[in-house]
Amino acid sequence: MSQLDAASPRVAENIERHTIDRCNLCGYRETQPFCPQNGRGLVQCQNCGLVYVGQQPDPEELYALYGETYFHNDESGEVGYTNYIKDEKNIRKTVNRRFDHIEKFVQPGKMIDIGCAMGFFIDEASKRGWQVEGMDVSHFAVEYVKERFGHNVYQGSLDTLELEEGAYDLVTMYDVIEHVPDPKAYMMRVASLLRSGGIFELATPDVDSIPAKLTGKRWIGYKLSEEHVYYFSVNTLRQMLDYAGFDVVHVRHIGKYVTLRLFLDRLGFYAPWLSKPLQALERTFKLSERAQYINPFDIVAITARKR
Ligand SMILES: [Zn+2]
Repeated sequence: MSQLDAASPRVAENIERHTIDRCNLCGYRETQPFCPQNGRGLVQCQNCGLVYVGQQPDPEELYALYGETYFHNDESGEVGYTNYIKDEKNIRKTVNRRFDHIEKFVQPGKMIDIGCAMGFFIDEASKRGWQVEGMDVSHFAVEYVKERFGHNVYQGSLDTLELEEGAYDLVTMYDVIEHVPDPKAYMMRVASLLRSGGIFELATPDVDSIPAKLTGKRWIGYKLSEEHVYYFSVNTLRQMLDYAGFDVVHVRHIGKYVTLRLFLDRLGFYAPWLSKPLQALERTFKLSERAQYINPFDIVAITARKR
């Protein structure tokens, strides 16, 4: 972890990587380069269409990224979040919007949030009547949630934690599946945790979305660090969910409540020429702390039911 104490967490450049020689989704070996201009070494399975980093760091290196700096650093365009904790109010607002959707499919019961970060998600859920648990690979995040809210949260990864099988009515997993070394194993584990008829909701960048196609190599989904190792489309998500024992019941693209300041930062990432005049406008009218629901239509959320 010590090399990660700098301003922004990184996988060291000279660490060993191993070639992924079979597609995680279908087991096929033949691939072709995918969007090579972004320099991320992406390949696409010629059989099922799954996109992934062809040479990946070991799982321990990936998990070691998520210390405190992941949730508080100044390079969120590249890795992590500018200041996750400061954004609490907007995250809670976003959570309630997501639960308005989820509760159309399942009534409050026992749930676990995989990748629970600072616990704002499960804390809001508990206010809505859910019996909540959380899990995160980040020791920092887990300690924070325990101390501040006292919720049941576990530190570790989904493939090693001991959890009660068939006991959950809902499993949520936002912005996680693209980070994990074995996404299919994760989905199968989620299926084993849910009761039959239970709901699994996950969200991940959509590599096949219109913004991804329009912005090409500049798409924010292709972060410069090693965080994202798998890139899904609605099609590959559907295939993997089906394999793991789920029926897809809803597909949508989701956004979140953000302050105008954050939105302008993000806009500047794509169009620096546009962000300057907008920032002047923002200063003039002191709009920066006002929250707005922004949907970039490049994050796909799928609601699935365990068969
Ligand atoms: Zn494949």
